[in-house]
Amino acid sequence: DRPVLEVHDLHVTFRTENGLVPAVDGIDFAVAPGRTLAIVGESGSGKSVSSAAVMGLLPANADVKGEVLLDGRELVGLPADELRAIRGNDIALVFQDALSALNPYYTVGWQVAEAYRLHHSVSKKEARRRAVELLDLVGIPGAARRAGNYPHEFSGGMRQRVVIAMALVNNPKVLIADEPTTALDVTVQAQIMRLLADVQAEFGTALVLISHDLGVVAETADDVLVMYAGRAAERGTVRDLFHRAAHPYSLGLLGAVPRVDVPPRPRLATIPGTPPSPGSITTGCPFQPRCAYAERVGERCVTERPELTPRPGEGDHEAACHLGRRPADA
Ligand code: SF4
Ligand code: MG
Repeated sequence: DRPVLEVHDLHVTFRTENGLVPAVDGIDFAVAPGRTLAIVGESGSGKSVSSAAVMGLLPANADVKGEVLLDGRELVGLPADELRAIRGNDIALVFQDALSALNPYYTVGWQVAEAYRLHHSVSKKEARRRAVELLDLVGIPGAARRAGNYPHEFSGGMRQRVVIAMALVNNPKVLIADEPTTALDVTVQAQIMRLLADVQAEFGTALVLISHDLGVVAETADDVLVMYAGRAAERGTVRDLFHRAAHPYSLGLLGAVPRVDVPPRPRLATIPGTPPSPGSITTGCPFQPRCAYAERVGERCVTERPELTPRPGEGDHEAACHLGRRPADA
């Protein structure tokens, strides 16, 4: 399928009192209708900044370069009012924190209805009907009655369902979910991920899932982009990542050499050291200070920046690493 969202050579730099601070340093990704792309990385890797850039939600001191194509239409540089018309309509965002996404002083029905009225000229009654329909769709029991409740009257999981209803009310082509289940307990996480999968199956929504939870990624994603220090470390299908990870950083995330018969660890494993801020390592590989394989490769890891390179015989699987062999075989 043709991608509905395409991001080409995205760069994000913040202008600060201390000069220019790069956050995203040239990444590419695409997602087709009905597919899920997971963007994985530690905090500070640029994954949330990338999604905010796609949504046009970065603060005024952010410089965005590159292309963000929604159905072929360039979003970078669009005037604020045109972006507002697209945001929440063709492309919507679900945050980790349902409480901050909802206004405590309004009923959830009113909030979902308003999200609809923002993009449709309909009566309040019609918007309210749409809100109840969506609250029902996302699995809120007694939706018609519950629409009259305030956010604090819902559990964390039910609140996240309300936020998803709000994001879906205009039937977006692309849904960006930034750590949508992090604040929830494991059972509820699974229910929310199932809900997103159901929605996707029914409406053909393209999903960009930003996550550090590799268990969730393994279960829900089709494709994965691993980010490190604002750059792509590895890109491929979920199978590529979990069965033939090619970048030492990805291996570190998986906690060990991935094996087909062992389920991935549910959280990012701890890799010794801390990630550099994007752009602070300008020569060589940004992962080099933490990489257990750098010594085997030698000088090149220090002097030459690895670019994403296709893995021979592995389709679209790509890694940015000088190590020719798979780390597991090195
Ligand atoms: Fe490690 Fe070198 Fe590969 Fe970077 S390029 S991940 S330092 S082996
Ligand atoms: Mg984040």
